[in-house]
Amino acid sequence: MIERTPEGLYCPAARAWLDPWRPVPRALITHAHSDHARPGCGHYWAEASGEGVLRQRLGRDIRLTPVAYGEPFRLHQAWVSFHPAGHVLGSAQIRLEADGEVWVLSGDYKRDPDPSCQPFEVVSCDVLISEATFALPIYRWRSGRELAEEIVSWWQGDRSRASILFCYAFGKAQRLLAELRALGLEEEVLLHGAPEAICRSYREAEVPMLPTRPVSALPRAESLAGRLVLAPPSAHRSPWMKRFRSPQTAFASGWMAVRGARRRRGYERGFVLSDHADWNGLLRTVKESGAQRVFLTHGQSDVLARYLREQEGIRAEPLATLFEGDAEA
Ligand SMILES: [Zn+2]
Ligand SMILES: [Zn+2]
Repeated sequence: MIERTPEGLYCPAARAWLDPWRPVPRALITHAHSDHARPGCGHYWAEASGEGVLRQRLGRDIRLTPVAYGEPFRLHQAWVSFHPAGHVLGSAQIRLEADGEVWVLSGDYKRDPDPSCQPFEVVSCDVLISEATFALPIYRWRSGRELAEEIVSWWQGDRSRASILFCYAFGKAQRLLAELRALGLEEEVLLHGAPEAICRSYREAEVPMLPTRPVSALPRAESLAGRLVLAPPSAHRSPWMKRFRSPQTAFASGWMAVRGARRRRGYERGFVLSDHADWNGLLRTVKESGAQRVFLTHGQSDVLARYLREQEGIRAEPLATLFEGDAEA
């Protein structure tokens, strides 16, 4: 039902592409991260709560049909529906049904609770195309709540200087603001311009987050000691950093699970917080979907494919795509 073409994954029954990597006439989009949502397509379909972020990233004037989670619609010979993926606001798994067969493209997803988006929903299918960004047994996440508590004690452990927490501007920053608020905090957090813009779309979707203010809106002379600041990794060691006097720095990402990555990037602290499924989350999802056939996209797909074939007797194989795990900067 789904084949790989130079433009991306194509469903002939729906006459539409899924997260195409080149401009196509009709695109079904799992979420607004840049490796999944590319500009220039004729018409887009995406989950309704992600509409704001999608327009922000692809252009206000794109032709977009927003569809609510769980509402099937017909495209040519196929029934299409979007189901929560638990990855970022508006992230969806795409379910396609035609000729008595059901395929699901997971997009990026996670199984752990995240107060900034709808929780993942298990969707039964014959064939699952799953991401495999963190598909090694070494990847096992702790809860967002635990991580948020650790971040608070790091931040509040030294209020003599600013605490800059680097994180991806779309998804991670908003999740952190929601996790911190869920701990009962009320204090204002300062933002770099990149996460600030996306926070506006999250607020329009009524995601509860801590109050925020752009760093650029503060008077030059104001002391930033004791403040928590969220900024994208691209701001690390950039001229933007001059505003802060000897801040403490940290990076929040699933990649921080690899100790070498932490040292190489030169952050003082690393917090392992991912918006992708860990090893157990991937296995659990494949099993719960009931799929007899599985294709795996992103990074470590060959390891997981072999495990599923040998341990679970599932026909599993890697599928080459241009999707990357957390490609955001
Ligand atoms: Zn993503
Ligand atoms: Zn991805």
